[in-house]
Amino acid sequence: MSENNQVKTLGKQKSIALIAHDNRKNDLIIWAKDNQEKLKNHILCGTGTTSKLISEATGLEIKGFKSGPLGGDQQIGARIAEGTINFMIFFWDPLESQPHDPDVKALLRIAALYNIPIANNESTADFLLASPLMEQQYNRKIIDYSERIAKKKDRQY
Ligand code: PGA
Repeated sequence: MSENNQVKTLGKQKSIALIAHDNRKNDLIIWAKDNQEKLKNHILCGTGTTSKLISEATGLEIKGFKSGPLGGDQQIGARIAEGTINFMIFFWDPLESQPHDPDVKALLRIAALYNIPIANNESTADFLLASPLMEQQYNRKIIDYSERIAKKKDRQY
């Protein structure tokens, strides 16, 4: 397959989305407290309740979108597609389904498509934050699927 890759530069300062499902919120709050010295160097945002709770617990400035079940995941997904969010820490609950599971799936898909770093659990979040790339520019490769999509259309119609 001959997809051409595009490159988007992830700057030294990342634009990080913070999200946690209800049963994982305490874990993310504690993680954010433990890592606030590093997090404060980046631009932070999150779904409504998560961002509010982390902000209250740490004093970090975090832009809040709508609550996840009310469309917050979709807002974050749209910004990943546009390129204004380029990093995500998302502690989702592996034991409980959510009313907005389709939105969660869409968000994870968009994050994979645009090749942004994502952590879905605490150890991955620790590894990401410990990476020297957190302090450097990084050229993020984005696969250009247009040729593949065009071929698929040719096949179908
Ligand atoms: P919340 O949304 O931070 O508003 O609770 C998180 C989610 O459930 O996606």
